[in-house]
Amino acid sequence: RAKAHGRSCFRYFSDELTRAAEQRLDLEVRLQRALRQNELRIYFQPQIDISTNRIIGAEALVRWQDPVHGLISPARFIPVAEETGLIKQLGEWVLLETCRQGKEWQQKGLPAINLAVNISPAQFRNSHILESVFNALEQTGYPASLLELELTESALMTHENEAVETLNALRKYGIRLAIDDFGTGYSSLAYLKRFPLDVLKIDKSFVEDIPHQKDDMEIAAAIVAMAHTLRLKVLAEGVETEEQLAFLKEQGCDCYQGYLVSPPVPADQFEQLLRAQMEDTEK
Ligand code: C2E
Ligand code: MG
Ligand code: MG
Ligand code: MG
Repeated sequence: RAKAHGRSCFRYFSDELTRAAEQRLDLEVRLQRALRQNELRIYFQPQIDISTNRIIGAEALVRWQDPVHGLISPARFIPVAEETGLIKQLGEWVLLETCRQGKEWQQKGLPAINLAVNISPAQFRNSHILESVFNALEQTGYPASLLELELTESALMTHENEAVETLNALRKYGIRLAIDDFGTGYSSLAYLKRFPLDVLKIDKSFVEDIPHQKDDMEIAAAIVAMAHTLRLKVLAEGVETEEQLAFLKEQGCDCYQGYLVSPPVPADQFEQLLRAQMEDTEK
């Protein structure tokens, strides 16, 4: 009996595995088609200077509008893209489309803002990131000085020496570098000192429970202070309430983004936000 039970358990798990693998394959095939058929979009989330309260940049976040399954989250398809190698193509598209949009806004006379693009670890390591970035800038004419790349700790940690070299090359070109989701990985700020970075983004998990979790508040405050010691600009992500903003401002945080100001929005809506700000200034 025990044996029979064991066997049915095995069958159950193997069915589950097969189903997961099939779903994954299905997602992979559909993502490949989405890239070909232009079903991906870039949404932009404003980044705000805490002291002036003005939009100084935007984070570019990819969205997939699938005709059958609707809007699919990058949290779901980026990992699949990474595992299957599709990330190279997807990442190149994101860079190119973001720079193209940035150039268009520049040509329309909108204020110069910084556009930040997420670079996944697999993309950073194996996919000729320098070539992809330079190519996007060259093809679109978007200035390197207005492009920021967001990297995660895990991207930097695997081949440290190579990572430092790559970052130096990007920085020499005038591109700004940010560390994303800081605090969720294993690296310390002392360790980050090795890398030529410009911006540190405090992960939203430390922001969401302000003012209820004293621990998180202390961590956030300590991150701001130590990042400033390393001359990094600090941006808090996931700011949803006035209370959170007030606390971060008090700690000397430089910039923020979050639903309090705006969720990520399509390009035309972001353009409206920029125009509204311009008109505000002219008054
Ligand atoms: P991330 O880079 O840390 O991006 C921030 C995420 O927080 C975004 O989720 C954004 O929509 C969300 N967010 C913004 N404000 C708030 C807020 O006030 N509260 C909360 N709870 N969330 C907020 P999204 O767009 O679903 O992206 C998820 C992740 O997928 C990103 O995390 C990034 O790691 C990855 N990703 C997105 N676009 C790209 C891309 O073009 N390339 C790569 N390689 N990864 C991307
Ligand atoms: Mg990011
Ligand atoms: Mg983040
Ligand atoms: Mg993230």
